[in-house]
Amino acid sequence: MVTLRRFRGAQIDKAGRFFYAAGRNAVNLALMQDAQPPSPTPALLGPDDPAPFSVVNPEGRTDLLLFCDHAGRAFPARLETLGLGPRELDQHIAWDIGIAGLGRRLSAALDAPLFLTAYSRLVIDCNRHLTDPTSIPQESDRTPIPGNRGLTPAERHQRQAEIFAPYHAALGALIQKRLDDGHVPVVVSLHSFTPVMNGFQRPWHVGVLWNRDARLAVPLMQRLAQEPDLVVGDNEPYSGRDGHGYSIKAHAEALGLAHGLLEIRQDLIAAEAGQDRWAAILHRVLLDVLGRPILHERHLGEGSTP
Ligand SMILES: [Zn+2]
Repeated sequence: MVTLRRFRGAQIDKAGRFFYAAGRNAVNLALMQDAQPPSPTPALLGPDDPAPFSVVNPEGRTDLLLFCDHAGRAFPARLETLGLGPRELDQHIAWDIGIAGLGRRLSAALDAPLFLTAYSRLVIDCNRHLTDPTSIPQESDRTPIPGNRGLTPAERHQRQAEIFAPYHAALGALIQKRLDDGHVPVVVSLHSFTPVMNGFQRPWHVGVLWNRDARLAVPLMQRLAQEPDLVVGDNEPYSGRDGHGYSIKAHAEALGLAHGLLEIRQDLIAAEAGQDRWAAILHRVLLDVLGRPILHERHLGEGSTP
């Protein structure tokens, strides 16, 4: 595993925009709503804090890129735990339970690179645009987050610059490197969802979230439905069309890469045995689907049929 303590490719221009200058095509990561110049010391992340993300199998040879925006539940020491107790920190609001273990197994099985975030989505949500009100959430699933109240623009900027930006810059850099080398990767984002939300028992085992590009999502759902006893959600339990997600838009849609977002129910992958089982399922399903040549073309137009 390669751990990048500080990714130097992320830059910030005078207007406060993060960008990654990648060869010919600069990837403009996000516009910052309350742009501030880089904050003075002290930095948010101290020497004993983990790096904002890690990359597993960066040289993986499959034309597939995996990432988990909500893999981690670390907190920078300076933020303590945002005022939350152990009970809240164990819940789904802090992270996607089980997804890192599943991602590691899938990365190994498919020989694909995998990006894992280290910090809790409650510090900053790496799958939200920086202008989204839930980027640094005031509450999550009706739990107030005391340490996110009343932040100054400089405090918001620190979280953006030290956690969000390096992760997305590195993801963008690896994709651009693959493209420069003549490979068109498929982009798959991995998440997990809580079995019960607002009193509703969610019936799905796995869901595929997608928007206009059907190239991966539709064959993936069809193939998943062939597995015994699986309930497969089509844009469930969330929709790829509601405009909230950031990473797939930035790293796949914007570049015309085939993609999908997979949601796996947390109770199925909380333990290692479940992660083994689901890695095996997703391994064989993706192997059956990924060979389609159309997935390794860039489609920059409106929509795309499978
Ligand atoms: Zn998630």
